[in-house]
Amino acid sequence: QGLVKHFPIRKGLLQRQTGAVQAVDGLDFSVNRGETLSLVGESGCGKTTTGRLLTRLLEPTAGKIVFEGRDITHLSEGRMRPMRRDVQMIFQDPYGSLNPRHTVGKIVGAPFKLQNVKTEHGVKKAVQGLLELVGLSPEHYNRYPHEFSGGQRQRIGIARTLALRPKLIVADEPVSALDVSIQAQVVNLLEDLQEEFDLTYVMIAHDLSVVRHVSDRVAVMYLGKIVELADRVSLYEKPMHPYTLALLSAVPIPDTARKTKRERIRLQGDVPSPINPPPACRFHTRCWKAQDLCKKVEPPLIQLAPGHQTACHFPENATEEQAADALKAA
Ligand code: SF4
Repeated sequence: QGLVKHFPIRKGLLQRQTGAVQAVDGLDFSVNRGETLSLVGESGCGKTTTGRLLTRLLEPTAGKIVFEGRDITHLSEGRMRPMRRDVQMIFQDPYGSLNPRHTVGKIVGAPFKLQNVKTEHGVKKAVQGLLELVGLSPEHYNRYPHEFSGGQRQRIGIARTLALRPKLIVADEPVSALDVSIQAQVVNLLEDLQEEFDLTYVMIAHDLSVVRHVSDRVAVMYLGKIVELADRVSLYEKPMHPYTLALLSAVPIPDTARKTKRERIRLQGDVPSPINPPPACRFHTRCWKAQDLCKKVEPPLIQLAPGHQTACHFPENATEEQAADALKAA
């Protein structure tokens, strides 16, 4: 709720604060048990920072994180420890996230040791069970990360994440570093595990074809804000925010509603700096629909259709009534 993360920039001998990178700037969203919510957007939009805030790897500058009804925003590390079992993260880089000097047994067994929940023999049995679960072999227990392919290493990372039977997994671009031919296997594995263990996923991704395949709902982020949040079908078939429309136009997904491919929308310019983002609607410097109002008044994220929220004064694919509602909110 109202989640904010600013990274201060300091300069000079006295390290005076001269500004801040506004990585995440006022997010409100919830994740339902058992669903997959994807966070998408160009790099620098704040999706990875959001994932790190949810897992408490970063402290928010403001706002609140509530997990199963409990405010965990400022829990001390000690009181956070039991919660760490429930909320886990899968990292993007299956090469960098595994210690090359540790065996697979040590890597996957580390969470048990940290939480002090099993004997030595118990850990070995549990790790071998996890390796089988993710499609590896119990024989891999004594091997080292460099002996595995990228896809296998991501499976090792997933096994480590599952060790403590988490409820919520934040997966930061879990397949983007993998060969395309391996991506589907890992995505399918994540889906199978979700069904088997009733897992909830927050998936951070930029590949909209993968997002379309795995998500129940999708939040589109731009410069630290959520600009659109909707269930997968309405987001892909009736995007309302111009930025979402532009993102979708760049991927070869057929527009099922019109049985045609979307026309490619080329956005002008680069994403502005998150140190000094444009006022009001942050997208106005690149939006082909921008009007004076967009430069003066920030559009709030409002619900324009059931389960479909958008932050735009002049939404796309809107009925007359929805267009009027969007303007009224300004
Ligand atoms: Fe574009 Fe205006 Fe909507 Fe922003 S508010 S996305 S500038 S039309």
